Amino acid sequence: MSIHPIDVPFNKRHLCWFCEEPSNQTFEYLRLPHTPHPSLAIPACNECKQLAKANMLTSIWDCRAAVKDQLIIKYQKHLAIGHNWTEQELKESEFSCKVFEGFKNSAWMMYNIAKDRVNAKGWQISIDEQPISEEHDYSALQAFSFDDIEFSSITQAISHYSKTLGVSSEFVTQLVSVLGKQQFAKALTLARLNIGVTKGRQRQIIQDVMHEKDALS
Ligand SMILES: [Zn+2]
Repeated sequence: MSIHPIDVPFNKRHLCWFCEEPSNQTFEYLRLPHTPHPSLAIPACNECKQLAKANMLTSIWDCRAAVKDQLIIKYQKHLAIGHNWTEQELKESEFSCKVFEGFKNSAWMMYNIAKDRVNAKGWQISIDEQPISEEHDYSALQAFSFDDIEFSSITQAISHYSKTLGVSSEFVTQLVSVLGKQQFAKALTLARLNIGVTKGRQRQIIQDVMHEKDALS
C-alpha cells in the first residue's frame, strides 16, 4: 500500500497541517476500505501527531476535528484567559506580586498560541498537485464559532465553556436549546448569573426564557 506525501504550499513549509505550529514529524493516515481518500503522509507537530494517531476515525477531516477537540481540552486553561480578560484589562490590571506579574507577561501570549492552534485551517490536501475531493469533509457543517474560537460542534463549545466558567453543562444545553445558538452568549450569561442554583430554579428560569421568547414572537 503506498502512502502519499501531501503537497505543502510554499508559505506553509515546516508547519503542522493540524495546528500550523512548526512541525518536524510526519503523521501517516493509512486508509481502510471505507476511507474516502488515499493513505496520506501529513506534516505534523509531535503533539498533534500523537492526538491524531489516537483519533483516526473515518477520514483525515474527522481526525482533524478530533485533534482540535483534544487541543481545546488540553489548553482549556489557556483559552479561558481570553474569556476572563481582554488584552487591555490585563495590561492595566494592577497586579503587584511576582506571581501575577509573571501571569500578566505570559498569559496573553499563551491564550493567543492556544487560540491560533485551535483555529488553524491547515491547507487543502493535494497529491502531486491533484486536489483530494473534500466532499467527505463534513466538519464545516457542524462547526460553531464563538468568541474567536472555532469549535467542531456546539456540544464541544458547551462542554468547554461549562468547564471554564464552572457552570452546569446540562443547564447551558437547555438554555441553548430554548434560545438557539445565535444567542449562545445570552445562554452563558444566564448560566453564570444563576450559578449554583437548584434544579428547580433552573427549570423555572428555562420556563421564563420560553415565555419571554413566546411573548416576542
Ligand atoms: Zn500541530
